[in-house]
Amino acid sequence: MTEIDKITVSRMQFYGYHGALPEENKLGQRFFVDVDLSVDLYRAATSDQLDQTINYAEVYRLAQKIVEGPSCVLIETVAERIAESLLSAFQIAESCRVKVVKPDPPIAGHYDSVSIEIIRKRSIAYLGLGSNMGDRAGFLQQALRELDNTKNVSVTRCSSIYETDPYGPVRQNDFLNMAVQIETLLPPAALLEATQRIEADLQRTREIHWGPRTIDLDILVYNQDNINVEKLSIPHPEIARRAFVLKPLLEIAPHLVVPGINRPVTELWQNLNEEEGVRLWKRNDGAGEFGLFEN
Ligand code: ATP
Ligand code: CA
Ligand code: CA
Repeated sequence: MTEIDKITVSRMQFYGYHGALPEENKLGQRFFVDVDLSVDLYRAATSDQLDQTINYAEVYRLAQKIVEGPSCVLIETVAERIAESLLSAFQIAESCRVKVVKPDPPIAGHYDSVSIEIIRKRSIAYLGLGSNMGDRAGFLQQALRELDNTKNVSVTRCSSIYETDPYGPVRQNDFLNMAVQIETLLPPAALLEATQRIEADLQRTREIHWGPRTIDLDILVYNQDNINVEKLSIPHPEIARRAFVLKPLLEIAPHLVVPGINRPVTELWQNLNEEEGVRLWKRNDGAGEFGLFEN
């Protein structure tokens, strides 16, 4: 993480009922919470205006609501809820660190305290959407709506829609393709689950690999991360070879550097041999993310 200003509220003290032991839920205990919020404070510092920064009384109130709220088994969960609540409330915060301490947990032995600490950040990801069955534009639209309605995901940019000759060995109808930028608090695996839930909601089935589908949602890029686990490869391994991915991406993120390849989208597009087969189908003239679908 790059160096950035921060706001710290430390040793907030609350009484709560979190824990795995029955007496913790019944009797309760003290909790300490530390929070660091990474935020650019230049504007606040030069304007001396409270509304340009994060009010720490508000930070306290949000943390209190969670620690004094419904009981959790784990302080990990308490910390996660605090982080989510703070990053949702304060759009200017890029990331936050939350430490939750049990100063006197009911376990035997000598020690000072137990605590956990998490760091959560706002992430930017790019997704590719495709449909070549039924009401293709309708499926794209529904997928976008569901994506934007997903908790901790918002669609922040949206390309035009392109029509594309089908790809791969299977004979099928032309695709509609587009790319979107999202802002999210979900880690990559949770984002994949969310996109797969949307695919399932839109009756996506997987009969033939690369066969026709109502909707396909691929995670193209997630921050500058390189991820290679069984179910997830990010950046999407085919990104540099696919005109139907690069053309819409070029529109919303020309200077985005694709990690691993370490080249911006413009350059990947220029290096592509086969640019044919991708035609503008409906222009996004900038009337909001969903302006595309209004007529
Ligand atoms: P392609 O991935 O070549 O575009 P596809 O989209 O037709 O092919 P799917 O059947 O939609 O393939 O997905 C197969 C699996 O790919 C998914 O179950 C998912 O676990 C995995 N996968 C790996 N990386 C990604 C990614 N970046 N985005 C989405 N799915 C991914
Ligand atoms: Ca795909
Ligand atoms: Ca896919």
